[in-house]
Amino acid sequence: MRPPRCFLCGLTHWDLDGGEGIDASFTLVHFGLNAEEQALAEARDREGWVGHPENVEWFCGEHVAQAKAKEHLHWREALTQLRNPAR
Ligand SMILES: [Zn+2]
Repeated sequence: MRPPRCFLCGLTHWDLDGGEGIDASFTLVHFGLNAEEQALAEARDREGWVGHPENVEWFCGEHVAQAKAKEHLHWREALTQLRNPAR
């Protein structure tokens, strides 16, 4: 899993004041997978894979609400919409 870094603004915990509970400022949002990706993810889980899934991104406190609003979409669609909010 990658360290926290906001998908939208690039904020990381290095940008925040030091101190405890910094990770709490970031939230992991899980977006949807298609059937094929879901099967692949389950196979990886069974093998104990510990990489960063493509449908999971970090968001800072400011952007997590926007991300959660797209959570039900397929991750590719959701991330495209988040990058282009005016459309
Ligand atoms: Zn952000």
